[in-house]
Amino acid sequence: MISVEGLTVRYGTGNGIVEALSDFSIKVADGDIIAVIGPSGCGKSTLLHVLAGIIGGYEGAVLINGRPVNPTEQRIGLILQDYGLLPWKTVYENAVLGLKIKGEASDKTYMKYILDRLGLVDMLDRYPNQLSGGQRQRVAIARSFILKPDLLLMDEPFSALDEITRESMQDLFLDIWRQYRVSTLFVTHSIEEAVYVGRRIVVLTPSPGRVKGEIENPLFGMND
Ligand code: ADP
Ligand code: ADP
Repeated sequence: MISVEGLTVRYGTGNGIVEALSDFSIKVADGDIIAVIGPSGCGKSTLLHVLAGIIGGYEGAVLINGRPVNPTEQRIGLILQDYGLLPWKTVYENAVLGLKIKGEASDKTYMKYILDRLGLVDMLDRYPNQLSGGQRQRVAIARSFILKPDLLLMDEPFSALDEITRESMQDLFLDIWRQYRVSTLFVTHSIEEAVYVGRRIVVLTPSPGRVKGEIENPLFGMND
């Protein structure tokens, strides 16, 4: 279970203080997938940065499996809009980067399954600049699933892709998610993306982001 209680985040000092999130609370049950949707500037990236342990100094409690967020202790997968691949590393090296950082050996059967499922087996020695946007995103997804994260965070994961690639990537992502049930929270400003990929949808107010409402998505899995 991931639990955020009364999270308030402010940037700046003195007269220049900007409140990015205000008394924000959310729970992600194990194996659930939550879409956080809201307009630009409502604090979505800030929320991901807090959950990833990238920014501190906030008010409120942010717990992953009952423990305060700590990226060295917990496994947190992060898929950014620009995919966050290291350009000087190959597809294979990028895909196993999370494990390498943790100093852990890979479960080879599982790793091969994920690389195969994402159609990456024939391009393991390529570099990110030799890949299309959809292929780069598949590497980022492979990296996150290979890590078997306690929490997978995604920032506008499918927004940068063309429509056809986006739909097939969303389906592929959901297929793998159904099989491995990684707890996932993603942020988006796309209603379509929230409705297609989110099993629960949390709607934020304009800046500073507060929870405006939360629903169980009745359309989730409609095409299964
Ligand atoms: P979103 O991802 O929903 O667009 P952000 O989390 O990026 O929103 O930003 C929320 C608010 O915090 C905005 O008003 C933004 O201008 C402000 N903000 C974000 N990062 C910083 C920063 N490093 N310093 C100052 N203000 C920031
Ligand atoms: P470990 O160090 O944990 O034994 P390896 O780096 O040897 O892991 O690689 C694990 C698997 O991935 C092996 O089956 C290996 O053949 C394959 N592999 C490793 N590097 C590459 C690569 N650059 N391209 C394709 N396959 C690779």
